[in-house]
Amino acid sequence: MAGGYMGIVAVGAGPTGLFTAIALARRGRDVTVIDRDPGPPAHGDWRRKGVMQFQHPHSFRGQVVEALRAEMPDVLDRLESSGAAVVMHGDRAAALHCRRMVFERELWRCAAEEPRLRLVCGHVDDVVAHRGRTTGVRVDGRQVSADLVIDASGRASRFTRALRGRGEGADCGATYVGRQYRLPADAPGGPTNSVIGLSLGFPEYGAVVFLHDSRVYTVALIHTGDDHRWHRLRHDDVFEAAVGAIPALADWIQPDRAVPIASVLPGGRLQNRYRGQLDDSGRPVLPGLISVGDSVCTTTPLAGRGVALALMQARELVRLLEDHRDVDAAAAEFDQWCSRRIKPWFADHVRTDGERVRRWSGHDVALDRPLPSDLVVAAAEADPRLADIVGPYITMDALPDSLAPAERRAREIFSCGWRPTYPPGPTRDELISVVSTTPAVA
Ligand SMILES: Cc1cc2nc3c(=O)[nH]c(=O)nc-3n(C[C@H](O)[C@H](O)[C@H](O)COP(=O)(O)OP(=O)(O)OC[C@H]3O[C@@H](n4cnc5c(N)ncnc54)[C@H](O)[C@@H]3O)c2cc1C
Repeated sequence: MAGGYMGIVAVGAGPTGLFTAIALARRGRDVTVIDRDPGPPAHGDWRRKGVMQFQHPHSFRGQVVEALRAEMPDVLDRLESSGAAVVMHGDRAAALHCRRMVFERELWRCAAEEPRLRLVCGHVDDVVAHRGRTTGVRVDGRQVSADLVIDASGRASRFTRALRGRGEGADCGATYVGRQYRLPADAPGGPTNSVIGLSLGFPEYGAVVFLHDSRVYTVALIHTGDDHRWHRLRHDDVFEAAVGAIPALADWIQPDRAVPIASVLPGGRLQNRYRGQLDDSGRPVLPGLISVGDSVCTTTPLAGRGVALALMQARELVRLLEDHRDVDAAAAEFDQWCSRRIKPWFADHVRTDGERVRRWSGHDVALDRPLPSDLVVAAAEADPRLADIVGPYITMDALPDSLAPAERRAREIFSCGWRPTYPPGPTRDELISVVSTTPAVA
């Protein structure tokens, strides 16, 4: 690997930081990864610090499997040995069924065994610079020197905020409430309809069953988060009453096939956010600092794109660092690549989520402007000729603007009064009534 820099520090040992660090270490780089969490314990629960979504359900897309296969197939082997399952669609990976905790644990263990990689527990306070260049980071008051700092510190990252600001973005209007269960041995699962497990879109809320590893799964309800009555879903009995009111979901919590293994986990409000890393003249905000993963782009979890977008970025960054002797040229090129390949997904989410929140608040499809992507995709149900256009978007093989040729036809379909078929289930008001009237047993 070419390169004119010596020490690399990666801030953050989440999926992005670990993946990037392992890939660089395997190319002969010495990398120090710093995270405020000490990592998975030898026994017992891993109470991960600093990542609010750690226990929330994740579904990993095919791109995540492809990234692991390309860079670290041993991690994929370990995941499969731990009970994770790769779901194939034809000859391609479509998803990885795995709890986030298991995913990170195996990445972390692999990183810990990597000879050129050092894992350090500590809180990074800020980036240290001298004469306008990064010289390292301050960790719990102590300086760790580096001439390349990779900021993989995620959505809650603060240590680069003074340099990069908050970026652009908006509330994504999707709040998760979920509970984890395990299927007893030999008990059949409930109904499924997608590579995730079961995905049910209702006119004013959503419901999903996420399949994970080792017969574990999560049942989740998703709402806009702006009506306080939903908050009662945090009680186990209230949550189960609400889930029981949705026929296809109710099947998943029958006592003969559902052993709850945790209490209900309510989520908070989330943002679609994008933060570039060049100044107005097109140079890195701080030479020697490169941000990657969620610290560049976060998107609504409804589409399960977060880790896929993060690892796509990580792969591109590693490739550019391999190609470029000049780290600042790599940083500038990486930012431009992110603007072309990552930002369009952010913009797509902002628009699609804005329109979805409108509809989840009781409004009909707006026909006086271009349809958002989810409705163009939905229209393929009415006109199967659209399937060839929407397919590559769904699998993230084509960017959101690939839907443009289908938009006019999709709008015609909606203008004729067609609407997607909704599964049997209560309206939002009926579900809120269940939530409001079910007693919460302490
Ligand atoms: C509710 C929810 C559900 C989601 N579901 C999915 C899904 O189904 N599929 C999917 O692909 N994605 C999903 N995502 C997105 C996914 O979780 C993120 O894309 C992913 O966490 C990004 O990884 P990362 O390594 O960039 O950041 P993170 O996972 O946030 O890791 C950042 C790390 O940096 C550390 N850190 C931060 N600041 C400091 C500091 N100053 N000093 C030391 N350490 C620091 C943190 O402790 C953390 O370990 C979901 C997100 C949410 C919120």
